[in-house]
Parts: sequence; structure tokens; C-alpha cells
Amino acid sequence: MVVDEFVSAIHPTWFIFLSRSEVRVSAEQSNDFKETVRASTDIVGLIGETVRLNSVRGGREFVGLCPFHDDHNPSMRVYPDQQSFRCWVCNMGGDCFTFVMESEHVEFRDALEILAQRANVPIPARSQQRPGQPGLDKAKLLEALLWAQGVFQQTLKSVPAAEPARRYLAQRGFTQETIEQFRLGFAPDEWSKLLDQARGRFTPQQLLSVGLVRERENGSGHYDYFRDRVMFPIHNERGQPVGFGGRVLPGADASFGKYFNSNENAVFHKSRLVYALNQAREAMKATNTVVVTEGYTDCITLHQAGLRNVVATLGTALTEMQVTTIKRFAQRVVLVYDGDDAGQSASERAVSRFLAQDVDLRILTLPAGEDPADFVTQHGPERMQQMIHDAPEAFDFVFNMSRNRHGLQTVDGRQRILGDVVSLLAGVPRLAKNVREDLLLHRTAERLNLSEEVVREQYRQARQGTPQRNVQSVNTTHRVDRPETPASVMRILQGQPTRDDRFECDLLECLISAPEWITRVRQEIGTADFTNPSLRTIAESCFDIDELGEETLAFGQLLSALDGNEPAKRLAVWIGAQASTKQIEYKLREAEATNTESNTTDDCPLLLRRSLENFKWRREEQSHQRRVLELSEQCEGSRSLDDETEKLLRQFSDFHQKRASKKATG
Ligand SMILES: [Zn+2]
Repeated sequence: MVVDEFVSAIHPTWFIFLSRSEVRVSAEQSNDFKETVRASTDIVGLIGETVRLNSVRGGREFVGLCPFHDDHNPSMRVYPDQQSFRCWVCNMGGDCFTFVMESEHVEFRDALEILAQRANVPIPARSQQRPGQPGLDKAKLLEALLWAQGVFQQTLKSVPAAEPARRYLAQRGFTQETIEQFRLGFAPDEWSKLLDQARGRFTPQQLLSVGLVRERENGSGHYDYFRDRVMFPIHNERGQPVGFGGRVLPGADASFGKYFNSNENAVFHKSRLVYALNQAREAMKATNTVVVTEGYTDCITLHQAGLRNVVATLGTALTEMQVTTIKRFAQRVVLVYDGDDAGQSASERAVSRFLAQDVDLRILTLPAGEDPADFVTQHGPERMQQMIHDAPEAFDFVFNMSRNRHGLQTVDGRQRILGDVVSLLAGVPRLAKNVREDLLLHRTAERLNLSEEVVREQYRQARQGTPQRNVQSVNTTHRVDRPETPASVMRILQGQPTRDDRFECDLLECLISAPEWITRVRQEIGTADFTNPSLRTIAESCFDIDELGEETLAFGQLLSALDGNEPAKRLAVWIGAQASTKQIEYKLREAEATNTESNTTDDCPLLLRRSLENFKWRREEQSHQRRVLELSEQCEGSRSLDDETEKLLRQFSDFHQKRASKKATG
């Protein structure tokens, strides 16, 4: 995000300057107010709420992982005597106001109000509204969310229409205490209940900007976003509600999904937030372990069973930012997955994403057909605790999966396991030249009983097919070596793409221009269909962002996902520029408008459809080539044509006919 970059690039004293100038604008009384708030805030306590702080031996200072950069060694110092903090790596620093401004991405005035609320200092009435969007400042939005949480809670408790919701929660085994603790609530099946109740307190505009209401399509007002749903408030680290997850009741209309969350907005950042972090924080610090489940109800059930260091993702795959958030409290991260196929593949993806992260990552898969809530209910918290304790390290987990598939007994099996493992490692972001790289290669050799040279050579080859991330050189630690741009990227940038490059660039142009089609495209092709490694990386990032369920992919998001992979970034920028020169977005949207009338079976714009057909065509061509190879091998073995061979020959001739007609139509 541009603002973040700007903020981290400027010197900390700037903030003090900025805050002072803002204060001067407001009335003198607010200076007293500010000093009262400052005096009531202890910076060690404040920062300690979001960062695990340790006291520096023999002194009064504290040290912890800096939340403002990707910190691996605690480099942020907190000075209680001066009530200030400073990071010695990214140079972020200041007082309690700076800390809140930076960590919550708010302006000074909002930071002041947040700290006032925290310290129970009454907030004086505002002398003037800020120019721009009146009343849309963050403190007011947080107030609206807190109010809505209370309304939903009250509705769950007292309204007759909430009876099915109360029954549902009771069936899940939630006690009254748990329902209170997690502030669960209910939104009734009405179109403007919340809007009506908010009248006089909050404007529809304010409710809209925190995702509680939506605009009617004909522009004639608003309607409640959450209807007939059990409400799970999602809190930030300070325990303030910043968004909601709404769960449909069993038997009700689930056409909008079993769960849905507030949309991304000024206070709700899906990819950064972790559910129940405020509840789990102390236990995480105490055990240095965090357990991550995929669902809210699993997380709550585990808390109720006495496992308090449990958090959940917001119904999406774990993100790098979430890992950065949780590793400030605990080094050991145990990801819990259901024992079904979806759970297995989700866990494999998570491993490849986080193997290079500086955390002790473990994977716990439950017996087939059981989710964490079932498990703890049936086998008890001690057994669950034991499973968490025994969860294998991420690498061993992947190794064992491959071993179970191929077997260690045969040479062929070992070869395949080696192939699986090195290709996984080659794709791990930021693993190259990381200490973990050595450790993992060593361990691979050991477990396969192979020499380390063999493993390293295979790994080297696998990496050549995968784009290199920029790496810190081992010998010259002060220099950052940028790897040369690979030929597969250069030829595209220089206007000499291969046919395959062109197919792949065409499709990416569509995805970047009209990201609303990504979900659809994902159903038809996978990232493995991309042959150019850098283009595949771009596609992976697009798919990942789409999978996270953000509204739509923004180009800036894509670039930040490609951070550290300069060639892919350059390529993405190039593709974006091509797309806008070719007016791809306009062509896709125009097509969408005309398509709806002519063709009801395929709603895909023609341009995108053609691009997808190219991929499918190529897939067919590749499988054809494999068949030809099989055929020639068979012919060499036996000299007679059996049925199978005849079938292949027939397919062969079909393929040539298709190719001829394809050429004719262009
Ligand atoms: Zn820092």
C-alpha cells in the first residue's frame, strides 16, 4: 500500500511534527485532554498488548519483535523512562500516539480517542468536524461496530425470533458463558432492523462503510447486510469489534454461503486479522504455542474445553500477514486441518507458503471425518492437547505424505519422493540462501538415505525451473544480490514471446483487467497449466488473492504479493501496461453486455473464452504428444497392432483433423 510505504520511509521525528501541527488546530482544552491521555497510558502496557516484550537484562528497557517490518530478531526497544519506542532496523519510533497511529493505520485524532477509551478518559465533544467525509473517522466507525455488536447480542438473548439461533448454539454445546465471552449475537430476518435502530445514532453512510448495510441497487436507500444469521464478531488485538462473520442457521437459505464476513473496509482487513486473537493472546504468550483452526465454531469449542491458545482464520487460507501477526506472541504455530481431502491439500499449500518463515510450523491433521470440535468433544481436551503436542513439523508432514504415496522401499519410490520434496522446496518463497534451506536439504538426504550432493543437484535443477527471489548473499552480507533476469522473462519484455508465453500473457491480461473473472477461470484451469515459471508465479498470486475472498484483486495487491520476485513484478507491470494499451478491460466489459443476450450457456466474454480455449487446446496437444510417444514405444516392442494401438491411431488422426480446422479458423 502506498501510504504504508510512505510512512515507513519517512523519519520518525516527522510524526511528532505532524501530530503537533494537528493538535494546534484543535482547541486548547484538547491539549490538556491529550496530556491526560498520555499520562494515563503506559507505553510498556500498550505495546505489550500486541507484542511479546521481554525485559533487557539488567535494565528497565524492553525488547520485542517489531510489528512494522518483517522482524526475525527482536529489534524494537521500548523505553519506559521516556515513554517511547524505537525499532533499530526500520527506524520506526515515537510515543504511544505514534504506536497506535502506525499499528492501527489511523490519524492522530483517532489514535487519541482510541487511547482515551482504553484509559477510560472521557472524550470532550468535538469542536469541529474534520473536512472531507464528516463522521467517517475510524473512532466513530469503531463505535458503530461496538454498538451493533451490543444490538446483535441483545437480540440473541431476548427476541423470540432468535429461538432457532439459541437452539443452534446450544446444539453446538456452547454454554451461556461462552456465548457472552465471544459476544455472539443474532441478526433477525428483517431488511432494515439495524438501520431503524441506528437512527439518530449513526448515519447509513457510517453503517455502510463498516459493511453493516448495503446500498439498494436502484439507489433508493439501504438495507441490512446480515439477515437471519448467527453473528460472530471479529475483534482486533485490542478486543474492539472490527467486523462480523454471519452464519446461516441449519435449514435456512444458504445460497449466499454458509458463512459470510463483513467486506474489506477501513477497519476490517481480512488478510491481517486473526479470529479470537484477543482471547488467546495471554495463553499464546504463556505456552509459546498457537493453534490455528479454520472455523470460528471449532475455535470457540476448543476455548470452552480449556484450550485457550487457539485462534482461527477468517474462513480463508492462512496468510503471510496473519503469520506475521501471530508469531509476535508465539513461535510454535500448529495448523489444524480436518481429516478430509480438502484439509490435506490445504495443509500442503500452507506448508509450501510458510516453510521459510521464521516460525516452528506444525501440521495436525485429524482422523478422517472429524473436525476439531468433534474431536475434542469425543476424546476430551487432554487427548487433543496431546495431539497438538505431537503434531509433526511441517517438513516431516510433507515428507510423510509423499512417502505414503510412493513408498520408501523401491528406488523408483525414493526418486519420486525426492522429486516431490525438491520441487516443493524450490517453490518456497524466500527459502534460497536462508539457513533453513541447508537444514531442509540435509534432512531430505538423511531421510532418503541419499548423498547430500545428489539432493542439492536435484534441488538446483528444480530451482532453475522456478523464478528466483532476490537473495542475501552469504559471503557479502552487506550487499543484496539481484539475480539476473531469467531468459523466460527477458524474451517477453523484448517482444519475442514464444507461442506459449503469448497464450499465458493473454490470459493474465484478462485476469488483471477484469479480476471478477478469476474465480471462474480457476474452475477451468490451474496454475500448473502455465509453463513459463514467472507467468505461473503471477497466476498463482492472482489465484491466491482471489481465494482469500477479497472483493476484487487490485493491481497494487498483486505487486505486493510479488514482493521479492523482481522478474515477476516487472513482468506483471508489463502485462498490466499491455492490457491497458489493448483496452482489454473495455473489450471484456463490452462483451459482457452483448453476451448476455446472445448466449445463455456460456457467460464468458469471447476474448476470455478464446484465451481459455487456447489453454485447453494446448493441454490436448500435450496429451497427444504423450500418446504418440506411447505409440512409438509400443510399436517398437511388439510388431503387431493390437486394439489399444488402433485406438491411439484413431485419436491421432482425429487430432490432426482438429488441428487443420483450428488453423483454418485462426
Ligand atoms: Zn522495525
